[in-house]
Amino acid sequence: MSEKSKTLWNPMVHPGVPGSHSTLEIIKGDGNYVQNREGQWLVDGVGGLWNVNVGHNRTEVKDAIKAQLDELEYFQIFDGVTHPRVKELSDLIIDMTKPEGMARVMYSSGGSDAVETALKISRQYWKAIGQAQRYKFISLKQGYHGVHFGGASVNGNTVFRTNYEPVLPGCVHIDAPWLYRNPWNCEDPEELGQLCAKQLEAEIIFQGPETVAAFIAEPVQGAGGVIVPPANYWPLIREVCDKYGVLLIADEVVTGFGRSGSMFGVRGWGVAADIQCFAKGINSGYIPLGATVVNERVAKGIESCENFSGAVMHGYTYSGHPVACAAALASLKIVQDEDLPGNAAVQGADLLTKLQNTISEFPSVGEVRGKGLMVAIDLVTDKKSRTPVDPMSGFANQIAAVALREGVIARPVGTKIIISPPLTIGTEEVDKMVAALLQGFTEVDR
Ligand code: PMP
Repeated sequence: MSEKSKTLWNPMVHPGVPGSHSTLEIIKGDGNYVQNREGQWLVDGVGGLWNVNVGHNRTEVKDAIKAQLDELEYFQIFDGVTHPRVKELSDLIIDMTKPEGMARVMYSSGGSDAVETALKISRQYWKAIGQAQRYKFISLKQGYHGVHFGGASVNGNTVFRTNYEPVLPGCVHIDAPWLYRNPWNCEDPEELGQLCAKQLEAEIIFQGPETVAAFIAEPVQGAGGVIVPPANYWPLIREVCDKYGVLLIADEVVTGFGRSGSMFGVRGWGVAADIQCFAKGINSGYIPLGATVVNERVAKGIESCENFSGAVMHGYTYSGHPVACAAALASLKIVQDEDLPGNAAVQGADLLTKLQNTISEFPSVGEVRGKGLMVAIDLVTDKKSRTPVDPMSGFANQIAAVALREGVIARPVGTKIIISPPLTIGTEEVDKMVAALLQGFTEVDR
C-alpha cells in the first residue's frame, strides 16, 4: 500500500476523507501493463484514464519526444508564428478526419480545454455570421465534458457543478439515448432513437431555434457509464440539427482515434459533426494535448467575417506545444499502422461477450455494455427494477479491489465499473480482465 502525500489534492475525491481514496501507486508502465509500488505488474484495464491508446513505454513515441526536445522544446504559435510539428499534425488530423470534411484545427492542453474552445468558437461563429443571439447549448444528461466552466455547464451530472455554481446561463439538458434506463421505459432501440431526436427538436423549438448555438454530446457517453446510442440516433440528431441550423459538436475526447472501434465515434454512425473535440488518444497521454477541429462551414463563417467577430481571441500558451505534437505524430502513426480502431472493435467485442457470459448471472450485475474498448458493468440492487446500487456503499470499489489483487485495474465510478484498456490489448489481457472481475463478483456478490 502506498504512502499518501500530505501535499497533494487528488482530483475527484474529498481531501478530508482519505478513507475514500484509492491506495494504488503506479511507478512504471510497459505495453498493456503497469507496475505498482509493491512490484506487481497489473493489466492496465483503464488505459491510464481512457487515453494510453498505444500502450505504455512505446519506443516510437519516446524517441519522437526526445528528438523534439533536442530540436525545439517549446515555442508559441500566437499571432501566426508556427513550427514544423504543429503544421504536420494539423495536416495529418484534417486528413484523418476525411471523409467527415473537417477543415481547421485549434490546439490546447487537454479535453476540458478542447470543449471550452468548441463552445466559444461555436458562439463566435454565430456572431461572425450576424446571429449573435444564438448563444444557448443543449447537451445530454449523464454527459461528461470536462471541468472548465463551459464544460461544467453542459455536463449532465450535477456533481460536477454543484460546488462551483453558478455556471453558464443558457445550458439545458435532455435525455441520453440510454436503452437500459430512460424516462419512456422504451426497450426498442429504433423507437428510442426517434424519441430522443424528437425531444431534441422539441427543446430547440421551446428554446427558440434562433437562440440555440449548438448541441454537444459524446458519440458514446463514457464517464456517464458507457451509454451506446441506438443505430438511428446520430443520423436523426444530425437531421434535427440541420433542420434548425444548430451546430453539432461531437465531444470525441474519449472516442477520438479509435477507442469506440472506428477512427472517430461519430464515423461509426456515418455522421459528420461540425466541431469535434479531441484530447487523450490524440497522443496517448504521453504529453498533455487537446485539439478542437471545425468543418468548412464554421471555418468559412469566421474567416470571411470582415469585422472583429472574425478574430479568434482564444488560445493557450501551450497551444500546439511542439513536444506534444511530436508525440501525437508518433502515436497516430502507430494507431494507423497497427489498425488500432480495428483491434479495439475485435478485442472489445470479445471482452464484452466473455464478460456477459461470465458475470451476467450475478444478482448485482444489471447490464454489461460497451462499444470497442469502452465497457461498463452497471451494478444494481434489483435486476428487475434496475435500481442502481447506492453509490456511497462502496460496492463497486470492493469489486475493483479484488480485481486489483488479482492483477487487473478496473475503475469503480459510482454505480458502475468501467474498463477502457489500451487499444493494443490481445486475448491474454482480455482473459485476465474477465477472470479478475469474475473473482471480484464471486467474493463480493455472495
Ligand atoms: N470530454 C470527455 C468526453 C471526457 O471524457 C473528458 C475526460 N475524461 C473530458 C472532456 C475532459 O478532459 P480532460 O480531463 O483532459 O480535461
